[in-house]
Amino acid sequence: MTLALHGTGVSRGVAIGRAWCIEAAFDDVEHRTLAEAERDDEIQRYQRALDDVREEFAQVRRHIPDDAPPELPALLQVHEMILADPALVAQPMQLVRTRGMNAEWALAETAGMLVEQFDAMDDPYLRERKQDLMQVVARVRKALAGRSALRRIVHATPDEARILVAPDLAPADMLHFRHEGVDAPHAFRIAAFCTEFGGRTSHTAILARSMNVPAVVGTHGAMQRIEDDDIIVIDGDAGVVLVDPDEATLAFYRAKLDAQATERSTLNALTVRRAVTLDGRVISLNANIELPEDAYAAMDANADGIGLFRSEFLFMNRNELPSEDEQFEAYRTALVAMEGRPVTIRTLDIGADKTLQHDEAARPASDNPALGLRAIRYSLAEPAMFGAQLRALLRASAYGRLRILVPMLSCAAEIDAVLAHIAQAKNELIDRRQAFAPKVPVGGMVEVPAAALAIRAFTSRLDFLSIGTNDLIQYTLAIDRADSRVADLYDPLHPAVLQLISQTIHSGASAGLDVALCGEMAGDIELTDLLVGLGLTQFSMHPAQLPYIKRAVLDVHYGRAKLLADQALAQADARDIRRLLALVNATLKDDERRINEA
Ligand code: PEP
Ligand code: MG
Repeated sequence: MTLALHGTGVSRGVAIGRAWCIEAAFDDVEHRTLAEAERDDEIQRYQRALDDVREEFAQVRRHIPDDAPPELPALLQVHEMILADPALVAQPMQLVRTRGMNAEWALAETAGMLVEQFDAMDDPYLRERKQDLMQVVARVRKALAGRSALRRIVHATPDEARILVAPDLAPADMLHFRHEGVDAPHAFRIAAFCTEFGGRTSHTAILARSMNVPAVVGTHGAMQRIEDDDIIVIDGDAGVVLVDPDEATLAFYRAKLDAQATERSTLNALTVRRAVTLDGRVISLNANIELPEDAYAAMDANADGIGLFRSEFLFMNRNELPSEDEQFEAYRTALVAMEGRPVTIRTLDIGADKTLQHDEAARPASDNPALGLRAIRYSLAEPAMFGAQLRALLRASAYGRLRILVPMLSCAAEIDAVLAHIAQAKNELIDRRQAFAPKVPVGGMVEVPAAALAIRAFTSRLDFLSIGTNDLIQYTLAIDRADSRVADLYDPLHPAVLQLISQTIHSGASAGLDVALCGEMAGDIELTDLLVGLGLTQFSMHPAQLPYIKRAVLDVHYGRAKLLADQALAQADARDIRRLLALVNATLKDDERRINEA
């Protein structure tokens, strides 16, 4: 029977595939202290779990299909070696015997120590093996819980669509999947994501959108209800996950998949067109990227430029900071790929849900990381690191139209400090006789309410503004953007949010500054009319969203959208704004279609 799980759709589209359940290796481990008399049994239980996993590996080896990816046997061997390693066999048993830990706890403790050893390794290949260790540990955990782990490899065929199901995924994990595909058989294609936790604008959701695959988050209980290999449907539009769908449901979703493919090819036809409203207002559509090579996708979508390059992703999943030279190469790659179109690179925005691996152990965890040493605050606290990034950026400016964007600014003193660092970086490059562009615009993210309210500190010091609505909403409404329990309160249409966006657009324009919006609101077709009506002329979003927004812009009449925005700004309740938007949007669209057809 089909089982439906409801969550929040964070990346649109539909996917059908087999489930790939990734259990957190160490989270939520039960801690029990055992009496002396129980310890022998517990050791035997652990031994049986190891035996089960060994038998699973043996089965997999016996059933490797002829067309399996060539990496599979080698990977299996690595996993078998890890499973047989004395550290994983003897150490947990020792902890059960001497400290009375239950087997799960002893395994987690051992794995934690081993992970630290892996992290300290210099050799990147060996460091990478940490993922393998985590996978073996997850399998032993499943065996301890009496659940088989590896059926999926037996059944899997190369290039099969897999739907990744997990309690939660950190942005760093998502980045790993983007790079590598999912763990074992690399030939698997990740067709969609489903997590039990997370919010619409968490960085995990943002990365799912950047991979252009459907995703549903906040599907509480998914890990209990979905087994490896279950056929599931992810409907990212409706925020629904269907487990073991019946034939009629599958047929319905297959038809939706076909329609999706047809729609994409229709949208491709718009690639060469400029985004101009029905009454002639030109809207600049730019791309948000995480890695330099994403610039090629931006060019494919014919973006007017890069509106946001989140440079922090160059700093994640590694134990050391990227050097100035390495960063220079990355920034230059993006600039060269964009062939003279503007490239806005944001300085490091680390903190909150994005963490630096080498820093996690060194710095005490903050109780409120989103309000702590995040983004520009972090960079100003680490002047050597910030200086290296600024020099790398300035050196890259010689290869294209670079704009430097600074995250999470909140006051004039901070902006002055940033500008002083930039001046110093320029002097250092002059001393070194290294080239940089004579004028590199410096802009600020408006993502803290204080910035929007005291915007003159920004307009008098900076060259452009970019509204980061993901954080602006989080900080205005005091809603953690990654917490599914308060996701219903995270509301882009809250009157306070709309007022701040509107004020920023108008203050920037009056001061003659470019104002862009690079939060996820820019990629939401439901909001295009409203944003154009508020006076926004520069949008930045993931390349995959760009054709949809272009189609929406081509349908907007600015004059009417402005009336809609004025009415929306006059409301005191988000529900009224939502009703207004639905109503006016429907009427406008009908009228505009008539105008278009005429
Ligand atoms: C934002 O806050 O809107 C933004 C674009 O930055 P990030 O999502 O990386 O925090
Ligand atoms: Mg932000």
